[in-house]
Amino acid sequence: MEIPEAIETIQERIQKACARSGRKAEDVRLMGVSKFHEPPAIEAAWKAGIRLFGESRVQEAASKFPGFKAGHPETELHMIGSLQRNKAKIVTGLFDAVESVDRDELIAELGRLTGGQKNPTINPLMILLEYHTAEDSKSGYPDVDSLFRAAEAALGFPGLVLRGLMTMAPLTRDEAAIRASFRAMVSAQGALAARFPAVDWSCLSMGMSGDFEIAIEEGSTLVRIGTAIFNP
Ligand SMILES: *Cc1c(COP(=O)(O)O)cnc(C)c1O
Repeated sequence: MEIPEAIETIQERIQKACARSGRKAEDVRLMGVSKFHEPPAIEAAWKAGIRLFGESRVQEAASKFPGFKAGHPETELHMIGSLQRNKAKIVTGLFDAVESVDRDELIAELGRLTGGQKNPTINPLMILLEYHTAEDSKSGYPDVDSLFRAAEAALGFPGLVLRGLMTMAPLTRDEAAIRASFRAMVSAQGALAARFPAVDWSCLSMGMSGDFEIAIEEGSTLVRIGTAIFNP
């Protein structure tokens, strides 16, 4: 399958998953995870309608996306991989959001780079807190209490715009285990919304090539698809 056909197939599967779960297809965003793929593939995905891309390595994104974004100004780029503090400066200059915020020292650094506690920059950075809901993944905040503390920390920086949560489900065929991971996200979102009602917690980034339909049934608003778009 070519990239445009693969994207069309995924969009149909998203629509069906939405229909089954009484949701609207517009409420689920499709991200093309373009890590390991070169600009011509990214261009093909763009032509087929993808505007949101995800990259997991700063260096790789920095070599591909400045040029691409210049030629395609509507591009939105999210960081989805583990981020070292010394690369945070490149990230704030290139990415529109960091979904993989997984520790408080990273919040402090991103907050500092977006203007500190009193002087937000003109370009705020959207962030999602990564929640560790499955043993296979190494990153993410381990529990709801640590998410509360992270939210508190992020709210101290006006340049950071907190929008929700991101997770990776276990890499397994055990559907019950995958659903448990996504349900833990929805439950954490509810707890955070009760504790911080002024924050818009609406973004639930969950679901990849192997499990995005389950994620949509459980309430995902953003699915991150790599393999099924770029190597179908
Ligand atoms: C690579 C990656 C994806 C995409 O995974 P596929 O299974 O290729 O769709 C999604 N999210 C994160 C955090 C990733 O690193």
